[in-house]
Amino acid sequence: MLKWIDIVKFINNGNPVPDRRVEKTDAQWVLLLEPEQFRVTRKKGTERAFSSEMCSYFEPGKYACICCGTLLFDSAQKFESGTGWPSFTQPVKQNAVAYHKDISFGNVRVEALCATCDAHLGHVFPDGPQPGGLRYCMNAVALKKVESTERKATFGGGCFWCTEAIFKLLKGVVAVESGYSGGKIANPTYKEVGSGKTGHAEVIEVTYNPAEISYDELLRVHLSTHNPTVLNDQGTEIGTQYRSIIFYRSEEEKAMALKILDDVQQLYNQLVVTQLEPFEYFYKAEDYHQDYFNKNPDAGYCQAMIVPKLEGFKELYKDKLQPNLQAND
Ligand SMILES: [Zn+2]
Repeated sequence: MLKWIDIVKFINNGNPVPDRRVEKTDAQWVLLLEPEQFRVTRKKGTERAFSSEMCSYFEPGKYACICCGTLLFDSAQKFESGTGWPSFTQPVKQNAVAYHKDISFGNVRVEALCATCDAHLGHVFPDGPQPGGLRYCMNAVALKKVESTERKATFGGGCFWCTEAIFKLLKGVVAVESGYSGGKIANPTYKEVGSGKTGHAEVIEVTYNPAEISYDELLRVHLSTHNPTVLNDQGTEIGTQYRSIIFYRSEEEKAMALKILDDVQQLYNQLVVTQLEPFEYFYKAEDYHQDYFNKNPDAGYCQAMIVPKLEGFKELYKDKLQPNLQAND
């Protein structure tokens, strides 16, 4: 998660390098864009406040640069700022947006540009919602909404090396990232979370296609692949960061989770202790935790703990595995 101090560093020391570059002359852009889009993005214009309905759109989806199509923002980070311009708290990737000092009109402001094509997008201010505290005040004409059917789900059920490895096998799961949710500070490190003092749980963020796998099915997989009756303890992993938890993103998801927790309770004599909390933030864990099992299959922990778990899982969920893992029979 970017904070104001990071933006200041980018301005002083250089912006992160984008994944690709798109460079065209004004003569080329003017042919590709509508006049207002050209004026704002290529000539650093500002659209009239409250001129776009985009301010009040909060449906799931992503926002891309009108000029080059690079994804810039996700609706999950969009908020109602009341300014009359669409406002976000974070870009989708740290290298999606570039920052420059803007001293026009006698003010010192931070200009936000598309890092790929240098389109002027708007400005960034340090008065956004916590924990990041940033407000990307954007011109709606500089953005286009990209419809997305993908959804996200966030679960904790012990060590994320294990849960990530399991969910990656499921058909309809597009991506799984390991990280931390449910704690008190932004951008916690593994060490801080491991101390148990930050309140975060080790979680996975699952991106899935609801046409192929439902939230209901993901919940059932989650609750059948760890022990939901044990508080803060999944075998060798003990501590609140290993608690069993479901983060819901809507009242529908909450109702579905309550129903399935009730079903799961029927299978146990002990009380199911899985927590159910509204989703707030997911902080991606350090790179070496991502895809840990596939990168370190021979590590002692993987062999002892994850391999047997995956074998049992593959047997139980044969028909729900990614197509390349399904047996040919
Ligand atoms: Zn662009």
